[in-house]
Amino acid sequence: MKGFAMLKIGEVGWIEKDRPACGPNDAICRPLALAPCTSDVHTVWEGAIGDRHNMILGHEALGIVDEVGSEVKDFKKGDRVIVPAITPDWGEEAEQRGFPSQTTGACGGWKFSNFKDGVFAEFFHVNQADANLALLPEGMSLEAAVMIPDMLSTGFMGAENANIPIGGTVAVLGIGPVGLCGIMGAKLRGAGRIFAVGTRPKPIEVAKAYGATDIVSYKDGDTVEQILKATDGKGVDSVIVSGGGPDILVDAINLAKAGGTISNNNYFGKGMFDKDYLPIPRTGWGFGMASKNIINGLCPGGKVRMERLADVVTYGRMDPALMATQVYRGFEKIEDALMMMRNKTGDVIKPVVICE
Ligand code: NDP
Ligand code: ZN
Repeated sequence: MKGFAMLKIGEVGWIEKDRPACGPNDAICRPLALAPCTSDVHTVWEGAIGDRHNMILGHEALGIVDEVGSEVKDFKKGDRVIVPAITPDWGEEAEQRGFPSQTTGACGGWKFSNFKDGVFAEFFHVNQADANLALLPEGMSLEAAVMIPDMLSTGFMGAENANIPIGGTVAVLGIGPVGLCGIMGAKLRGAGRIFAVGTRPKPIEVAKAYGATDIVSYKDGDTVEQILKATDGKGVDSVIVSGGGPDILVDAINLAKAGGTISNNNYFGKGMFDKDYLPIPRTGWGFGMASKNIINGLCPGGKVRMERLADVVTYGRMDPALMATQVYRGFEKIEDALMMMRNKTGDVIKPVVICE
């Protein structure tokens, strides 16, 4: 089979591999729709998880089931499914502690395009199909549904982790697709005022549609100063970090009120260096005593999560298709879509590829 792969750090290309084998609890799927992720860009061009050789990329997909293992009960060949970006080993120790995405070790639930071949392939393997896959609801647009496996799951996690009081003030730093879903999540969680920090017109338009009340450009001056001024020096109850480099954490901590929460979605870093540190501002963090908590997480996966996110779309709470700014047709277009994600200029929020 054919797949679009990371050949080594900084290099991508098409490769041939054997079709993956199906274990008794697993499924093999063909892609129905695909999307590249900023995380693929960090992985290939920044070497953020270290080197990988000839690893097929991609973790955002809708699929058509091609084969199921002997123990799989809920799916059969031909089913159209939502494939979560994160596919935990359900029943494993970290899952029993309440952290399924961290199964087998930090970020261990992230298997596609990390520990095994990803979904940018003619066939891909899904572990524990009954626990991980969800049926794609009839009639849901593919452009909307392909945002569910990672963008909705991660962006909403940012809001879920942010401890947002009803009517509370939230700042969302970064309004790519993850931050846009963070805005939507903050609105669904009952936020009052929502600051969206970004610069490009198209994401700003979608940020407003998803519930942002105030737009701040980090290029028009210091973000913290602008938001403190707008809140009479009070700051915000919750900050959702979805863009920028390591220094964004300084902004986030300085923006939060004492007792506020900083919820990080960002995937930080270049290369694998144990001695890299992320900055915490000493005074902004109350010399270590301001009850400003930093919470982070990896996108939640699994069937129940996918079904709930699908309901957000089915029952009209959100239209994720607003983020599908470029729609390609044909599996082989994933190469163009990834390059567009890498360069991300103009009105690009998220390119998507419809495979059939
Ligand atoms: P994008 O690159 O599409 O968006 C980044 C946003 O950050 C843009 O709106 C950009 O604004 C903004 N930005 C850049 N610099 C600053 C700054 N100094 N202050 C405020 N905003 C800034 O990213 P995605 O939405 O695709 O992803 C966001 C992050 O989430 C990435 O690090 C990604 O790898 C990570 N991620 C994490 C996951 C997880 O499980 N935790 C899962 C998926 C993704 P502008 O365009 O106007 O310059
Ligand atoms: Zn992703």
